[in-house]
Amino acid sequence: MIADNLAAIEARICAACARAGRDRADVALIAVSKTFPASAVSEAYEAGQRLFGENYVQDWRAKAEDPALLPHRDLGWHFIGKLQRNKIKYLLGRVACIQTVDRWSLAAELSRRAEARGAPESVLLQVNLGAEPTKAGFAPDVLRQRFEDLQALPGIQIQGVMAIPPFRDDPEETRPDHQALRSLRDELGLQAMSSGMSSDFEVAIEEGATIIRVGTAIFGTR
Ligand SMILES: *Cc1c(COP(=O)(O)O)cnc(C)c1O
Repeated sequence: MIADNLAAIEARICAACARAGRDRADVALIAVSKTFPASAVSEAYEAGQRLFGENYVQDWRAKAEDPALLPHRDLGWHFIGKLQRNKIKYLLGRVACIQTVDRWSLAAELSRRAEARGAPESVLLQVNLGAEPTKAGFAPDVLRQRFEDLQALPGIQIQGVMAIPPFRDDPEETRPDHQALRSLRDELGLQAMSSGMSSDFEVAIEEGATIIRVGTAIFGTR
């Protein structure tokens, strides 16, 4: 069933890329496995999926060390949850990307620790597009102001931007959100843009997303 879901999503990704005149290889699918067991991750891996996203450090650690996943050497993780500074140490050198660098203090601490290890971390800067008070992320203006300082941090490599736009009933209504993220990415001269989830990943791809994060449509409802 996970294999069927992945195949269906792959077809939709390809169709969205075709509509947008984009290359399929320029869009990375992150399978968001939060709350699902290692066996589900393994099933997706067997179906060809290689990149997975997790939100909770504790759950991720248990999953990543599960014997079912140990043989899958080329399986990669993106951290996509709210990150507390005291949990940074568990992620260093063990995930392909930390997508949710959402504040200066986290960026600075991450850089300090990664530098001490001698290996920079790939990160995305999380943007709070609508400046929603309940959501994490840099307000676009704050990000513009601090971007040079962020880029100067030696222990992080800023690959791009990430956002979790407000949920909207009609995916078409998310288009301006993805467009806003893309403009910001282009303005900052970055490459990666992580946006689009189960409900709106096609619109995100049409608007330039290079990373989509899909959970429910692959693993089922949580
Ligand atoms: C859970 C989650 C997703 C996946 O959402 P779905 O609607 O299940 O596809 C994507 N991004 C983040 C940051 C999430 O927390």
